[in-house]
Amino acid sequence: MSYVLTCPNCGPREVTDFSFGGELNPRPRETPSPRELGAYNYFRENIAGVQREWWFHRSGCGEWFLAERDTRTNEVLLTELPSSGEGPGAGRAPGGVQPAGGAAGGTL
Ligand SMILES: [Zn+2]
Repeated sequence: MSYVLTCPNCGPREVTDFSFGGELNPRPRETPSPRELGAYNYFRENIAGVQREWWFHRSGCGEWFLAERDTRTNEVLLTELPSSGEGPGAGRAPGGVQPAGGAAGGTL
């Protein structure tokens, strides 16, 4: 199913322009227990409803951004660049790639 996502930099584009980065998964505290680390690495909410998730504008500006999408209908409620609280240390971009704009000097 095709739908439109609005890149915060480029505007509305077909979803095929983007790569899905998974749901927002806040990092655990600095020294997590094995259980907390396992949950962070392997568990996802996978909710049927509005989910906050990462997207990457692969065929455009190359920016990571956040979207709120209803997983039942693919209705995209909002898209925005991550705030400082959702960058490295708070959020998770897939593949170990940190969201742009906060990658340099971020603490892991
Ligand atoms: Zn873009």
